[in-house]
This record gives sequence, structure tokens and C-alpha cells, in this order.
Amino acid sequence: MILVLLGPPGAGKGTQGVRIVKRCGVPKISTGEIFRDLAASGSPLGLEARSYWAQGQLVPDAVVVGLVKERLSHSDCDGGFILDGFPRTVTQADILETMLAEMGRKIDGVLDFAVDADNLVIRLSGRRTCPNCSATYHVTAQPPSIDGKCDHCGSMLIQRTDDTPDSIRVRLREYANKTAPLLTYYADRNLLYRIDANGAPDEIFESFESALTKMGCGPNASTELSAGLVR
Ligand code: AMP
Repeated sequence: MILVLLGPPGAGKGTQGVRIVKRCGVPKISTGEIFRDLAASGSPLGLEARSYWAQGQLVPDAVVVGLVKERLSHSDCDGGFILDGFPRTVTQADILETMLAEMGRKIDGVLDFAVDADNLVIRLSGRRTCPNCSATYHVTAQPPSIDGKCDHCGSMLIQRTDDTPDSIRVRLREYANKTAPLLTYYADRNLLYRIDANGAPDEIFESFESALTKMGCGPNASTELSAGLVR
């Protein structure tokens, strides 16, 4: 199963992605996480990427595509994968389509996580992240058991440098200008499944569980994904 998670920053792609991984048993590839890990290790590519993401801007297509291509060649992707944060531009989507065709594969579905603008700002400004295992929390909606500490690995939580008001504004603009056109792109290919992602994480997951089954993930899976498709 090859699944793409679409949606603005703060829509919950990462949170829902972790649940999808558990249910479907395929890896989640988050380009944002790859960049943060590379920057933390001091790699020149990571530091170059940071000069863009720290300001909320998208990293150039050529940089992202090379990384994704390399990651998809790993054997853990043989049984499928979930893309979180890629593609983010029409150019990236075109390249992905070609890349997959060369591998004899194709996307099974694209989940669009739709969230009201006010809700996005509240989520992003209160988000706290574990720099070690990438688990995410929210200061009020989903706090950790011990204040400031990750429930999973005990590391001190941080606020992402791009979760600041200035950066959030730029990221939402980048999404509207460069990523939102992908909604039409994938709707035209009958791949788009729209999700109301304003609620609580459990409710949101339940709302698209049946779509996952239809995409071939989980019990009673059928190969046809028709219900909920945006045409
Ligand atoms: P994310 O963790 O998905 O919110 O990504 C964090 C930042 O990494 C984004 O704001 C971008 O600067 C950069 N980034 C991640 N994925 C991509 C992508 N597919 N294309 C361009 N930039 C990306």
C-alpha cells in the first residue's frame, strides 16, 4: 500500500501517520523528520535545508526529491509506505509519479486532512515535539504525563523552531500557494480522500479506518477504493 498524507502544517498528518503505521505495518516517510535529523547530525544538506525550514519556506524540489528517492530504495519500503509531507508541490508530485512508474508501482490513495485555519494556529503554537523519537504533544489538548518530558523515551520536549508565529504564517502561505494545488491534482486522478481533521485524534482516525481497509490495509481489505473519493 502506498499512501500520501496531504494537509496544511498542523493538520495532524504526523499524529495520524503513526496510527496508520501501527495498523498497516508499513513505514512512514516524513521528509520534515529526515531534514530535522540531518540538521541535528550537522550534515551540510541538513544545514542547507534548515536555512529554508527555519523560516517556514519549502526546501527546493531538487533537494527533497533526491532524499526521497534514496529512502524509497530501502528494503523496508518493498511492502508499501506512507508519505508524510511529500509531495508538497506539483513538480514533486510529477516526479513521484514517474519514480513510482519506473518501479512498477502506484499510489493507492491520498488522504487530505482538512482543518479550519484558527484551529491550525492553535495546534501549531501549542505543539511540543520530542527531538529524539519525534512523538508530538500539545500543551493543552494532548499534554505528556510528566510536564515537558516525552512519554515514550523520556527526552525533554521542545518547541520546533518553525512553530513560531512568523514561521507559521509563512508555512500556511507556502501551503496555500504551492501544496494546495495538489488537491485538484489527486482528485483528477481519483485518488483523493477528504477527511475532516478538526476533531480529536481518535475520532479522526475512526473516520478514515474504512478507507484504509479499502486501500488494502487491515481486515476485510478490498482493492477498490470508491467510497469517500472526491471526483
Ligand atoms: P514538516 O515536518 O512536514 O512540517 O516539514 C518541516 C519543513 O521541512 C517544511 O516547512 C519545509 O521547509 C521542509 N519540507 C518538508 N518536506 C518538504 C517537501 N516535500 N518539500 C519542500 N520542503 C519540505
